[in-house]
Amino acid sequence: MVKFENVTKRYGALTVLDSLNLEIAPDEKVAIIGPSGSGKTTVLRMLMTLERINDGIIYVDGEPLTHMPKNGRLVPADERYLRRVRGKIGMVFQHFNLFPHMSALRNCMEAPIHVLGLSRQEAEQRAAELLDMVGLSDKKHQYPSQLSGGQQQRVAIARALAMRPKVMLFDEVTSALDPELVGEVLNVIRKLGKEHNLTMLMVTHQMGFAKEFADRVCFFYGGQIVESGRPEEIFSAPKEERTRQFLSAVL
Ligand code: ATP
Repeated sequence: MVKFENVTKRYGALTVLDSLNLEIAPDEKVAIIGPSGSGKTTVLRMLMTLERINDGIIYVDGEPLTHMPKNGRLVPADERYLRRVRGKIGMVFQHFNLFPHMSALRNCMEAPIHVLGLSRQEAEQRAAELLDMVGLSDKKHQYPSQLSGGQQQRVAIARALAMRPKVMLFDEVTSALDPELVGEVLNVIRKLGKEHNLTMLMVTHQMGFAKEFADRVCFFYGGQIVESGRPEEIFSAPKEERTRQFLSAVL
């Protein structure tokens, strides 16, 4: 569903991702862990085409993300092509990023109306169903400032889902939350994983959650995947010294 092929990303002299290869199967849940600055967020930002890559190619659902096929070869993607392929991906950020002047419901309706061309009525029905799914049917007319951090994050998840993505990206979605609000957001992610056929890629510092939820854990260090495997392998019997050092510092 997602494939990074020899992807390199540099900021000036700094190589943030170094010829990264990563393939994620449909419906697979992958957790990305690693120390600060190891390139975890950059992986997600490149999938959202928020960053230009220097080398390599990314595929989403079999289609190249940065290039499009034309006359039998790949040429740089135009905006229309990009928008369509990018539409297969939903992202939830650490800092919710909701529209502050819109209710929870409206937050979830905007993109389906303006990007997918849904009618108001269709978008409202979809938004209401999703807010119900994340346990916020009684809060749909509230504005973000009237919601707790956990509730705002659940709205952000509903908003991303309203575009019916095939892949969901979660970037440290509980890091900005008070500890007592973390559980409600993780519960929604758990539920999503069980009830929907979604490929999920999450950058997380919640090692307990990664262990329980992910099909595969990738440990990043220095812009590369140093080790990846099933959670029980990575957490109980890491093979690489770097992984051991990181886990002993965070667990
Ligand atoms: P954290 O866990 O702290 O969020 P991370 O593993 O997600 O870290 P990234 O945010 O992917 O790390 O950043 C990787 C490296 O790239 C860091 O050294 C960071 O300083 C650098 N970097 C990120 N964005 C930029 C930018 N726009 N310009 C220059 N350097 C950047």
